[in-house]
Amino acid sequence: MRLKPGVSARGISPELLLGIMVLDAIYKNVTGADAVVTSLRDGTHHRASKHYRGDGADFRTIQASITPDTAERIRAEARAQLGKDYDIVVEGNHIHLEFDPKGPT
Ligand SMILES: [Zn+2]
Repeated sequence: MRLKPGVSARGISPELLLGIMVLDAIYKNVTGADAVVTSLRDGTHHRASKHYRGDGADFRTIQASITPDTAERIRAEARAQLGKDYDIVVEGNHIHLEFDPKGPT
């Protein structure tokens, strides 16, 4: 995995880091390519976005090898491995991953 130039990992949560590591391994396994993280706490997101809290990450899917079907496969596998406390959404040119714990800690 690599970070898009200019993207800083400063201030991301350990829970998000775990999610990134799991999604990265799945991405590599499914596509054979290195994932690119295009946004962490930076970028422009909706006001209450988990990105600003260090709980959100975007993985680029715009490469030719990542069809919508492939992105969906990555999403489903990540969901199965990470469980309900993580939300994973295919959003056009990227997969959005966030840590969003449900219920009591
Ligand atoms: Zn996002």
